[in-house]
Amino acid sequence: MVLSMLKVPFVDLAVQYQEIRDRLLVGIDKVGNSGQYVLGEECLLLEEELKVFCDSKHVVTVGNGSDALFLVLKALGIGPGDEVITAPNSFIASAWAISATGATPKYCDVDDGFNMDPQELRRSINKKTKAIIPVHLAGIPCRINEITEVAKIYGINIIEDCAQALGATFQNRHVGNFGVAGGFSMHPLKNLGVMGDGGFITTNNEELSTQIRLLRNHGLKDRDHVAIWGYNSRLDELQALVGRIKLKLLKEWNGQTLAIANKYLDSFSGKVEVLKVPMFSKPVWHNFLIFTERRDSLRKYLFDKRIDTRIHYPIPIHLQEVHKNQYRIGDYPKAEYQSANSLSLPIYPTLTNNQVEYVIDTVLEFLK
Ligand SMILES: *Cc1c(COP(=O)(O)O)cnc(C)c1O
Repeated sequence: MVLSMLKVPFVDLAVQYQEIRDRLLVGIDKVGNSGQYVLGEECLLLEEELKVFCDSKHVVTVGNGSDALFLVLKALGIGPGDEVITAPNSFIASAWAISATGATPKYCDVDDGFNMDPQELRRSINKKTKAIIPVHLAGIPCRINEITEVAKIYGINIIEDCAQALGATFQNRHVGNFGVAGGFSMHPLKNLGVMGDGGFITTNNEELSTQIRLLRNHGLKDRDHVAIWGYNSRLDELQALVGRIKLKLLKEWNGQTLAIANKYLDSFSGKVEVLKVPMFSKPVWHNFLIFTERRDSLRKYLFDKRIDTRIHYPIPIHLQEVHKNQYRIGDYPKAEYQSANSLSLPIYPTLTNNQVEYVIDTVLEFLK
């Protein structure tokens, strides 16, 4: 079905573009005239502004969110022979970052809120475990305080996967400040999406931020001196510009998304299972998941009524082909339950009241 035939598309980035278009066109001209298109002023300013937004001492922008996680692991010296634990119900990049270092991705099951379960984590740690990557899935903070407690016992670093959670807080602290670093994505579909790929790292550890700055730019200390083997993972000036313009609107947008989530929550309460939000946390609702055994027929029903939905994610990471013969169905039951029963409804700031109500009515109609 083409986008224009849908009453409620799952995403509609072109609508949001209209809101920033004028500012963007002026900005593109400014960047063009500056003659500096990589690691220039926009990038520096975005890092400064993100430091304030995330309340972190250091921010390093990189090419994408996957690299954000990968470069932190590299900076920590993680590699072959090491194991890193993440959640099996995430986007593949959470595990890819581990695998790309040569380390082995390991998993532990999630809790009733579908984020990393601290008890399961404790059971999964062994001598080879060198780091933990909890995910704040769908923009809902995981139980990061308990996860931090477990990690402390074993002296293991935490790298938060905040790709879906920019703006979310736990106990009034922005995500990305609980472990040694946080990895964020600015992929177009994320809450702060640029017009291409982008990502950044938050950390309160100066040494680590210096190391990541080296790694993202070929290990170059300055124009001519290479300290270590690095990578090319830089955010270009145009994407930094888009990021800066959108960041100014993000609080407002997140507020609008929150209002939609609250409407969904009110309307679905007692009628269908929804994501649980842990105490003390303020989510940003990157996705809105509902759960039903009749998920596939609900999805079809909604599509016939011209409402587009998604599944996050239809195959849990441990059951992907990359792990062939390593895991079995039943290894992580909660993550598997999510894959089989969850449906993500449209949620983004430019959804109209009419669209939200139409989604609610149609879902309730199906459930009757
Ligand atoms: C999007 C995403 C990433 C990767 O970010 P990219 O910018 O697409 O590389 C990592 N983890 C999670 C949970 C994500 O949703």
